[in-house]
Amino acid sequence: MLTITVDLNTCDNHGQCVFAAPDVFAFNDDEELTFVARPAAEYRDAVLAGAGACPVKAITVVQSGA
Ligand code: SF4
Repeated sequence: MLTITVDLNTCDNHGQCVFAAPDVFAFNDDEELTFVARPAAEYRDAVLAGAGACPVKAITVVQSGA
């Protein structure tokens, strides 16, 4: 299982995570970051790429289970 947390106080809306994993991260109409906190396993690589690309390291990904 993947669990994502984002420090929205640190997030600077750079959008790298949205670019890397658009099915998981998105901006809402107020240009605030929204995300799927527990995405399906198929998004693991994209989520990790997005977290790695975040210039302010606001994304934490915890992987647990099988
Ligand atoms: S890449 Fe980082 S700073 Fe940019 S929107 Fe995503 S969490 Fe926020």
